[in-house]
Amino acid sequence: MKIDLLPIIDSKGSQLPIKCQVSVSDGDIDARSDVSGEVVNSSGTLEIKADVKAIIKSVCARCLKPVTETIEFKINDVVGEDGITLNGTVLDMGDVVRQNVFLNIPLKFICSEDCKGLCAGCGANLNTDKCSCGDEEIDERFAALKKLLD
Ligand SMILES: [Zn+2]
Ligand SMILES: [Zn+2]
Repeated sequence: MKIDLLPIIDSKGSQLPIKCQVSVSDGDIDARSDVSGEVVNSSGTLEIKADVKAIIKSVCARCLKPVTETIEFKINDVVGEDGITLNGTVLDMGDVVRQNVFLNIPLKFICSEDCKGLCAGCGANLNTDKCSCGDEEIDERFAALKKLLD
């Protein structure tokens, strides 16, 4: 959503509504954000105040299972600061939301706190599959012990 701020740039106390949806993708992350709020001319400073509800689709950092999470946060930025610039008098809310989404979401998603992840040995998903890598480890130790005894 692009908003032309011209109507409020010289008019202190005036405001323009923000209502848009922004999709952001980066690597494993796919976010759809509903944004609503306003741009306010507060004593000559243009402030962006908005509520964001983002539905994030990603993958579990441990087992790679798809994960969907909803995250809510507020945008509280000032035009001319916080890395926000205008193109003439036009504000690109897409850029503002994109920036804020990546500031507010976790670096890693996991499907559940006790996700066992994938076996480093054979790649089996340890939440659903059993693998014998652990057993072999014991066998190896046994073998070493046996060697000593021999
Ligand atoms: Zn997982
Ligand atoms: Zn394994």
